[in-house]
Amino acid sequence: MRECPECGFFTLKWESPFYVCSKCGLTLRRHELNELISRKKRERLERDLQEEGKEKYKRQREYLDWYMGKGS
Ligand SMILES: [Zn+2]
Repeated sequence: MRECPECGFFTLKWESPFYVCSKCGLTLRRHELNELISRKKRERLERDLQEEGKEKYKRQREYLDWYMGKGS
């Protein structure tokens, strides 16, 4: 069993020539599955980077607020 990239459960079964998910019904050929997995990975990475960017921005704002507040 492999992890289904769609629902995240280890319900993906090889039924030649397809991978079939018994949970959500996803049916993919081997290369399609690999494509989907790498796409999902990329999406997750981009989301992480966005979150990181937001954190950085928040920290900068906090510092600025602190800095501005200090002057008055
Ligand atoms: Zn699934």
